[in-house]
Amino acid sequence: MARRIAILGATGSIGTNALEVIDQLSDRLCVDSLTAHRSWSRLVEQAWRFRPRFVTLTDLDALRKANPAQLPPETRLVDGPDRIEQLVTAPEVDIVLVAVVGAAGLKGTWAAVQQGKTIAIANKETLVLAGPLIVATAQQCGATLLPVDSEHSAIFQALQAGTREQVLRVVLTASGGPFRTWSTEEMENATLEQALQHPTWRMGPKITVDSATMMNKALEIIEARWLFGFRPDQIHVVIHPQSIVHSMVEFTDGSVIAQLSPPDMKLPIQYALCYPERLPGPARRMDWSVSHRLEFEPADPDRFPALELGYRVAELGGTSGAVLNAANEVAVDRFARGEIGFLDIVRLCEAVLEAHEVRQPNSLEELLEADRWARQQATRWRRRPQLRR
Ligand code: NDP
Ligand code: MG
Repeated sequence: MARRIAILGATGSIGTNALEVIDQLSDRLCVDSLTAHRSWSRLVEQAWRFRPRFVTLTDLDALRKANPAQLPPETRLVDGPDRIEQLVTAPEVDIVLVAVVGAAGLKGTWAAVQQGKTIAIANKETLVLAGPLIVATAQQCGATLLPVDSEHSAIFQALQAGTREQVLRVVLTASGGPFRTWSTEEMENATLEQALQHPTWRMGPKITVDSATMMNKALEIIEARWLFGFRPDQIHVVIHPQSIVHSMVEFTDGSVIAQLSPPDMKLPIQYALCYPERLPGPARRMDWSVSHRLEFEPADPDRFPALELGYRVAELGGTSGAVLNAANEVAVDRFARGEIGFLDIVRLCEAVLEAHEVRQPNSLEELLEADRWARQQATRWRRRPQLRR
């Protein structure tokens, strides 16, 4: 029987790649439900192609305007405040793919975890916000979290080469983004358009800006911390401009096990959806008939201070992840609207994190409170005049 997938964020970069995987492996995978935020016409197209039982929109205005008569006869538009919970907790759903961008992914992830589902998680922001709580609740409720982020998929695969006690450290690779070779002075005036020119990956706009600041790698340090339980000092970052080695695990004997493939998210998506099976799928393959050069260089924490924030939050835990993530979401949005400069993104995040008194939360509500507080602070943040030079 084909596994039935609920895709949250079906209209985005991960969502559409996932649908290509499902299309190619249609004897193994099928769509149970799809969600988008506002992209109604795209969702309708996807519904005609994949014939899900349910679709919905998360944006209320867009939902009100959506015309269900445009959907195929077997697809129902789900309404009501609990529509996301309804879709992900349906007994027919085998896997929930969380491909929503930002903390907005928390709602569906949380419902799926509590229901003991298998969750293929691309949405790293949710793990940064609430990683320890999600992992603990998954254990209690019998839910399985499978990484989709390419680095974490690579680590998950490489970990199978030894026992946990034999792991010395994990090495997260980073492309370095569009500003890998830029000086701090040059980055000061970087534009949105320049930040969106990622050298190796085609992704949604938020994660592309995160890759340019290297906040993406900071979030991934935190993601690795909670998803796999590594100590911060066991998580190493290395620049690898070709994005072919997706990450590595170094064992105590000195062996380093890496996962390689061309930069194409269809592979880690497929690995999570088909786990533990490996099947021929639509992802690009290595071409061994041509020469390849794989380079590795140390990350530069002076030019990319976001990295230090990632380590700081991985160490602090508690409410600090919620605060860093929320501050970054607001900062990226303000940069995209031209309100702050490129380097201000990380300055803002650091200022909000420094103003925050970290607490060890007992509930999701406490984390959401920290998220709200950080969004307010980040919205008000102004660069101090003396930093302008
Ligand atoms: P996109 O911006 O391309 O897509 C985001 C998806 O989420 C869309 O379907 C969008 O719907 C929906 N969405 C947007 N806002 C909300 C909201 N407030 N509530 C609910 N749904 C919303 O993002 P990506 O696909 O690039 O990234 C998705 C997640 O995967 C992110 O967390 C990212 O960090 C992670 N990731 C992405 C990678 C990539 O290659 N793209 C690689 C590794 C991780 P609509 O179209 O209607 O706006
Ligand atoms: Mg990644």
